[in-house]
Amino acid sequence: MRWTQTLIPTLKESPVEAEILSHKLLLRAGLLRKLAGGIYTFLPLGLRALRKVEQIVREEMDRAGAIEVLMPALQPPEIWQQSGRYETAAEVLYKVRDRSKKEWVLGPTHEEVITLLVAAEINSYRQLPKNFYQIQVKFRDEIRPRFGLMRAREFIMKDAYSFDVNDEASQVNYQKMYDAYTRIFARCGLKTFPVEADTGVIGGKLSHEFMVPAETGENEVVYCEGCGYAANIEKATSGIPNTAAREIGAAVEKFATPGVVTIEALSKAPYSVPANRQIKTLVYIADSKPILILMRGDDQLNETKLMARIGAVAARPATPEECVATLGAKPGSLGAVATALERRSPDRPGGGSHPQRAGQETGAPQIYADERLRGANEMTTGANEDGFHLRNVSIERDIQVTQWFDLRTVTAGEPCAKCAKPLKIRRAIEVGHVFKLGTKYSEKLNATFLDADGARKPSVMGCYGIGITRTLQAIVEQSNDKDGIIWPLSVAPYQVCITPLNVAPDNVGMKLAERYHDELTAQGVEVILDDRDDRPGVKFKDADLVGFPIRISIGEKSLAKGEVELKPRNGALQAVKAENAVEAVMKLLGA
Ligand code: ATP
Ligand code: MG
Repeated sequence: MRWTQTLIPTLKESPVEAEILSHKLLLRAGLLRKLAGGIYTFLPLGLRALRKVEQIVREEMDRAGAIEVLMPALQPPEIWQQSGRYETAAEVLYKVRDRSKKEWVLGPTHEEVITLLVAAEINSYRQLPKNFYQIQVKFRDEIRPRFGLMRAREFIMKDAYSFDVNDEASQVNYQKMYDAYTRIFARCGLKTFPVEADTGVIGGKLSHEFMVPAETGENEVVYCEGCGYAANIEKATSGIPNTAAREIGAAVEKFATPGVVTIEALSKAPYSVPANRQIKTLVYIADSKPILILMRGDDQLNETKLMARIGAVAARPATPEECVATLGAKPGSLGAVATALERRSPDRPGGGSHPQRAGQETGAPQIYADERLRGANEMTTGANEDGFHLRNVSIERDIQVTQWFDLRTVTAGEPCAKCAKPLKIRRAIEVGHVFKLGTKYSEKLNATFLDADGARKPSVMGCYGIGITRTLQAIVEQSNDKDGIIWPLSVAPYQVCITPLNVAPDNVGMKLAERYHDELTAQGVEVILDDRDDRPGVKFKDADLVGFPIRISIGEKSLAKGEVELKPRNGALQAVKAENAVEAVMKLLGA
């Protein structure tokens, strides 16, 4: 390929829209252009790199026994209603209308489509196991599309779905996909590490995410260098000790705290209640119902854990107005002590009822407490009356906790639950996700089979995603220097860039460049010949910016000595005899 024949619109400056390095580099190197927020065109070089990632994924999926299919992006909303996700995934669903005003959904993922296919086509245990995959475009109405391909509205995913006769067999498929992912990312030249991940509303089943360590990643990962434990912070636990239970103290006592609305303010004189002796009361709206969450004052609630534990699809902090409506006080003075709950505004249902019945027929909110508060005595909490708090609170004596859960966010330095070494936290990009689904979708969508024992059973499913476009950008985020991208050989748009300094058609250097081009191409190497009539500095800069693994430069000075220059993108320049250049390149390529 000749440079002037294709389109490589490199840029000197980063477009203002680009927030992170990989995004800047993809734009500057002329691989990508934005059409609208979260929607991109792949230019020729970007597409070549993308196709390579796809091909690696395809080869490893095939090797693991998965079967390729291609499912539609445009889907009838009825199948989403059938699975229940028309409501639960409503936020991310793009909906479009046809000429007769009928609504359609643009698929953000394909569990519904594949499960219905399997329901119709697979009927016997003899046809199982099966694992279907596709490499296809997804649409998601993300709250915050950003960082280029990282969080896009339209992106390419490899998604696979396995169907098995039972849990044990499903685990085999899960492990195969897990192993395939490890190979895929290694072949892409990407350093990843698997972490335990939240399984959300489905709960109880296994899930791992494959993470690329990166400061710009949207995930936080908790890990232990002692035993190798690693988990998404949304799921991570630690061996941090519980609140030291004190003796049950005196009766609850109300005291005035004018103007005190934060844990911190209460921890200062004249009150001097340390944060770890305070109970923080949070009001959340979970699936449209108000609930109370109790955390130790110095702990942070983890919303993903909350949703997973209570099986909520959505949860958000209540507004100050909703807090007043729920508890009769504004944030800063909230509390869940039974007597304080009684003080809820009398015109509300349940207001003034007997505390024992709170949360039952009164419609009072459920109270979920973090495990770390178990047995906590002599605590201080809001009195549900602006400007007042309660002291001497014994959580198990004074508060009707509906259920205890692990709800807190792990912080760095806490002891690992397995080996007690201090935990670390780092940011990372999620590039892949393997998930044991169980029978959630097969039951809802009737994907059953006749088992050997004659019984009809739902298939046990797994689903496995890789963000192909996100992976491509993650490679760039991980592999670059001040001059530009450093493509791993396996995914480089071209492996070799030949840069003759004089491009006149009859110039010796240009003729040599053409010969190298043809010889390397004949040996299966992907070559681009920079035939631009431009200054050498410009051409070298562009080759480095795009990041071709090997550059051959042909200049008159070296040629006079019978030499050309070989420059691995990530290594030192070397002079080689002109007649040995092709052989030397093949060696560098490991051929
Ligand atoms: P995230 O937590 O980042 O939103 P997710 O859990 O919604 O991701 P999955 O449904 O597990 O993602 O999708 C599988 C893979 O698709 C992810 O691991 C990620 O690589 C990719 N992916 C998901 N959402 C996007 C997006 N908006 N843009 C680009 N890639 C995405
Ligand atoms: Mg995920």
